[in-house]
Order: sequence, then structure tokens, then C-alpha cells
Amino acid sequence: MRKIILTGDRPTGRLHIGHYVGSLRRRVELQNTGGFDEINILVADAQALTDNADNPEKVRRNIVNVTLDYLAAGIDPAKSRIVIQSRIPELTELTFYYMNLVTVARLQRNPTVKTELTMRGFGSSIPVGFFCYPISQAADITAFKATTVPAGEDQEPMLEQTREIVRSFNHTYQCDVLVEPEILLPQNRASMRLPGIDGKEKMSKSLSNAIYLSDEPEDIRKKVMSMYTDPDHLRVEDPGRVEGNPVFIYLDAFAKPEHFAEFLPEYHDLNELKEHYRRGGLGDVKVKKFLNNVLQSTLEPIRTRRHEYEKDIAYVYDVLRKGTDEAEQEAAATLSEVKNAMKINYFDDKELILEQQKEFDEAAKERAAAQAAKGPRQPHRKKEQ
Ligand code: ATP
Ligand code: MG
Repeated sequence: MRKIILTGDRPTGRLHIGHYVGSLRRRVELQNTGGFDEINILVADAQALTDNADNPEKVRRNIVNVTLDYLAAGIDPAKSRIVIQSRIPELTELTFYYMNLVTVARLQRNPTVKTELTMRGFGSSIPVGFFCYPISQAADITAFKATTVPAGEDQEPMLEQTREIVRSFNHTYQCDVLVEPEILLPQNRASMRLPGIDGKEKMSKSLSNAIYLSDEPEDIRKKVMSMYTDPDHLRVEDPGRVEGNPVFIYLDAFAKPEHFAEFLPEYHDLNELKEHYRRGGLGDVKVKKFLNNVLQSTLEPIRTRRHEYEKDIAYVYDVLRKGTDEAEQEAAATLSEVKNAMKINYFDDKELILEQQKEFDEAAKERAAAQAAKGPRQPHRKKEQ
């Protein structure tokens, strides 16, 4: 079976380091190791509109921002397709058919949707489009017959929903058209759901608690130095907690042995640093300075590449156009298989024409036979005007 990746982001803002460790870094690695037949990266503008209907301008402007972040992080358009979701109407059509296979109760149980509804403060006035976005995500994934979705932990319930739709579709229409995808979670725990700099559960574009891939060095430094740490670690000599401490979680996600050699040679690795913090005698400022160095050295090449791509926005749109055109052909092929399986491909269905013609012909024969049994017909008399 072909190994196909589908993944993506909502263009609601620039990408942050949570996106990077949760999914983007892995996409670049997978792209470069070449173990996949196809990589599709979706800029999910239609999905972004489900809770930004009153602000299409925000979505419109961020399509380029997200694409610039991809290119800057190392996505190579010669190896990976970058695709604009709303330019592929087949995805909307698939969503519409899948909606019939999912119950309202099932969507209401989705833990990610539940959290997001609270986060956005929708109360009971949830836009129907937002409520149904897990179904549209299933359409995105299955349209490309994706086998693998590299994503953060928050996407697990979406993948489960997709697998259910695949099973339901293949069972209902007695076919094997759709493929069940697997989620590919980040290799380390910290990266599965990176917290915000405020210590909140998840770094998110919508919560203003993010360090962006495109932040300038001074912004990164200020954000790191203002980070929430262990609130009980008041004096340097106090013992500190590393669990749930965002500074250490970021180090878990980003620090490599070479960073210690370069910026903090008195410690061999992160375990040694954590041990010292736990014992007491290690100040937050020292740890934050180290984290700042680690982030600066990780983000510097990304920012520099971004500035290069920013000089040619027409090129960025060319990349999007090419990726989208190729992707549309594939989505169209899947939609056609879906319609064949559901037998709603009326104009291509020669069998249906023949079958129905036969039925009508037989009915006509029966009528004629019944009439013949009744005796000859009265000649039809033309009504006089
Ligand atoms: P929004 O607030 O608009 O929903 P977001 O910051 O949650 O934005 P998405 O576009 O919804 O970002 O997510 C894109 C991808 O990034 C998904 O694979 C998601 O799992 C991953 N991701 C987002 N935030 C984090 C995070 N804090 N830690 C790890 N992965 C994340
Ligand atoms: Mg999100």
C-alpha cells in the first residue's frame, strides 16, 4: 500500500513553536528521509472560517503566513504539496456525504470539540460548521487516502472519528474505497501538547501565549524571561519542580546534547540540570537564559529563510497553486470512487440506464398484455374544437 501523509494547519495566525514540535518538525524529517510516497499539507482555510466567519480577512492574510512558515521550516515544494483547502470543492462534497454517517451525539462526545467550545466561549450558539469540523477533517484525510497523519495529541479524537467514518462508509456501501489513517504523534511527551508561556495547557494562536517561529530575537528573549515557572521556587536555594514547569517542558522538546556543550557546559545533559533544579540551588534566570539560547539557535535559521521567501510572495502563491491543482485531481478521483460505491454516479452508470429501461419495458409489456386480455382498444377520438 502507498504511504501517504496528510496534515495541516488552520491559517488563523503565524505558526508557533507548539506547531513546530507537534507536527511541522516531523513533517520535514519525514519529507527528507523519503519513506513516504506522497506528502500533502493542507492550509485549512475553510476550517478556519468555521469559527472566524466574521473575519475572512484574518484567514485570507494568514494563508501566506502559514505557507512562509512551512517553507522556512524546510518544507520543500518539490517533495511535499502545499494545498489550499477551500480551492478543492471535492472536500466539501465528501463532507456532505460523510455527515450522514455521523450522529449529533457522537460529535458532542468529541473531547477536542468540547474543549474548543469552552475555549471559544460559544455557549449554546455553536456555528453548525464548527460543530461539524471533525467530519470535514475526515474528508480532508480520506480524499488523499492518507495512511499517516503527523499531529499533536489534540488531534487523536479527530483521527478516531475519521477511522469510524471510514469503517462505516466501507461497511455501508460494501466496498474498500476509504483507507483508515494512523496518527503519528511526536516522539517525546513534551512535544505532544506544548503548553503556553503562561503555563496554560496548550500553546495556541488563539490564546496569545505563543512564541512564534517568526518572532524576532528580542521578542523571543522577552517571552522566555517572562515565562511562568514553578510558583513555589521563590529563592535560588529552594527545591524546584520540573514536572508541569513550562521552562523544562520546552527544554524537553528542544534541548539537544550539543546545546549543553555550547551554552551550558557545566551540565552534561538535561537530566543533570533537572536534578540540580529539584535539589535546589539553581535559579530560574539561569535556566531561562539557557532555554533562550536553545530557542534562538533553533529559530534563527528558520527566521532567516523566512525573510528570504518574504521577498517573493508571488512565488509563494505559485507553490500553493501548483500543490492545490495536483491535489484537486486526486480528491476528484477519490470522490468519483465514493460516488461509484454509493451508486450516485448517475451519468456514468450504464447499468442503471439498462436496468431501469428493462423495468419500464417490462411494465409496458405487462400493461399491453393486460390490455390485450381485456379486448381491442377503442380508437382514440379527437376532441372537436
Ligand atoms: P487555533 O487556535 O486556531 O485552533 P492552534 O494553535 O490550535 O490554532 P491548529 O492549526 O489547530 O493550531 O493545529 C495545527 C497542528 O499543530 C495540529 O497538528 C496540532 O496538533 C498541532 N499543535 C497545535 N498546537 C500545539 C501545541 N501546543 N503542542 C503540540 N502540537 C500542537
Ligand atoms: Mg486548534
